[in-house]
Amino acid sequence: MTKKKIPQRTCIVCGEIRDKRELLRIVKTPEGIHYDPTGRMNGRGAYLCGRPECFRDMKKKRALDRAFSMRAEDAVYEELLKELSE
Ligand SMILES: [Zn+2]
Repeated sequence: MTKKKIPQRTCIVCGEIRDKRELLRIVKTPEGIHYDPTGRMNGRGAYLCGRPECFRDMKKKRALDRAFSMRAEDAVYEELLKELSE
């Protein structure tokens, strides 16, 4: 029997590595950056561990800019935080 390996991803804010299923998926689509609660949306994905500090520091650290190699406006961060807290 081979043990199934659980995929791991890195939180884009604190850099901690965790099981993919414990992380929140953020996806970049042509329509913008959104929280992907299903984990199945098409687009480039990034992961967030969900700690309050990471929510808080995401904008300060420009974590989306780095994760998606782009310049994300403040409004993009604010919109995403709103989606994440709903
Ligand atoms: Zn984190």
